[in-house]
Amino acid sequence: MAKQMPKTPLIDQLESGPWPSFVTGLKRLATSDKRYANMMKDLLGQLEHSYETRKGYWKGGTVGVFGYGAGVIPRFSEVADKYPESKEFHTIRIMPPAGMHYTTDLLRKLCDVWEKYGSGLIAFHGQSGDIMFQGSTSDNIQPAFDELNEMGFDLGGAGAGVRTSISCVGAARCEQSCFDEAKAMRMTINSMVDDMHRPSLPYKFKFKFAGCANDCANAIHRADMAVIGTWKDDMQVNQAEIKVKVSELGRKEFINQVIKLCPTQALDLNDDDTIAVDNKSCVRCMHCINVCTKALKPGKERGVAILVGGKRTLKVGDLMGTVVIPFLPMKTEEDFEKFVELGRNAVDFFAENALEHERTGEMIERIGLANFLEGLGLEIDPNMIAAPRSNSYVRMDGWDEEVKKWNARSKSAAE
Ligand code: SF4
Ligand code: SF4
Repeated sequence: MAKQMPKTPLIDQLESGPWPSFVTGLKRLATSDKRYANMMKDLLGQLEHSYETRKGYWKGGTVGVFGYGAGVIPRFSEVADKYPESKEFHTIRIMPPAGMHYTTDLLRKLCDVWEKYGSGLIAFHGQSGDIMFQGSTSDNIQPAFDELNEMGFDLGGAGAGVRTSISCVGAARCEQSCFDEAKAMRMTINSMVDDMHRPSLPYKFKFKFAGCANDCANAIHRADMAVIGTWKDDMQVNQAEIKVKVSELGRKEFINQVIKLCPTQALDLNDDDTIAVDNKSCVRCMHCINVCTKALKPGKERGVAILVGGKRTLKVGDLMGTVVIPFLPMKTEEDFEKFVELGRNAVDFFAENALEHERTGEMIERIGLANFLEGLGLEIDPNMIAAPRSNSYVRMDGWDEEVKKWNARSKSAAE
């Protein structure tokens, strides 16, 4: 029997802002003629109740599928007597394809599965990258997963383990891409499936892959290991296209929008409307390339910078990743394998040295970056920076022994 739509004056206010509201989406599902309409009405009722009392009413529990220790987030309601239809509202996390490429046919099939077994509510994608199938009962979790698995999908990560990764769309469609992000993600995840499905780490560990410093994967501030595309040689410049851009914008605007916004003042506009790039000062921030897409491109010697320890707010506040490898080529199969081995070592070091509920960035703050680098067998380099464009961990005035070692390494590499 169809239930009455609950009165929801508080959450209705969330629909009044300029952005699309999830409340509108929930109401759409609640007023549909689908089997889950009553579930969504009780969900809206419970949400309104939470806003009235300023309290959350979801508690965890144990729900899973055969053979996995992660991937299902149990949600049991503490107010099930008042809102019985949404007393179980579990989430299944499903690993997305690398680069998040789907056909419309596949998307329809995914929706069909969730209309059959869940609430119809799907989030593409959660912050860890997973497709979030939200709202199902304990009985429906296994058959829903079986059908998704039959289509070739696997459960994603949850709990204290390696989490599902994100890679930007990158090499498949984006001209700024400096490496094959999807391949790096796929190889990394495939080598750590056990750590995803049977979490046994002190806390979560996330990898994210972005093809350039635009960082469409939010890697730098959300990943324990962020892999960000960059280049080593000179930026590619098409001076004829620069002239076109200057004539479109006018010299004054070009200077305001491009030259003056270079964070390291590495650009100059010449009298003949060409530009000069001081590549040694360029920090590969992507700004000028974003503005002059036809005229400027990353260089040809491409690879990745690797940063560790980024995370959003938890115990010690937000942390941005710290550069531990300024440049790693990512071209050959061996390069990719080398990266995967580094990722594996970072996870192993984290497993052995982090405290319960401590993220990589917090562990590094506690034990010191030098100890972390030593644990991973990485050599200290002045390009490792604590804060972008401002300071180096390594003193360059001869005080630091590491500088002598770095100078010796640079000299022998040059010979
Ligand atoms: Fe393109 Fe860079 Fe964004 Fe990846 S991070 S999609 S390469 S702009
Ligand atoms: Fe300057 Fe960034 Fe362009 Fe490099 S990429 S020249 S740092 S604006």
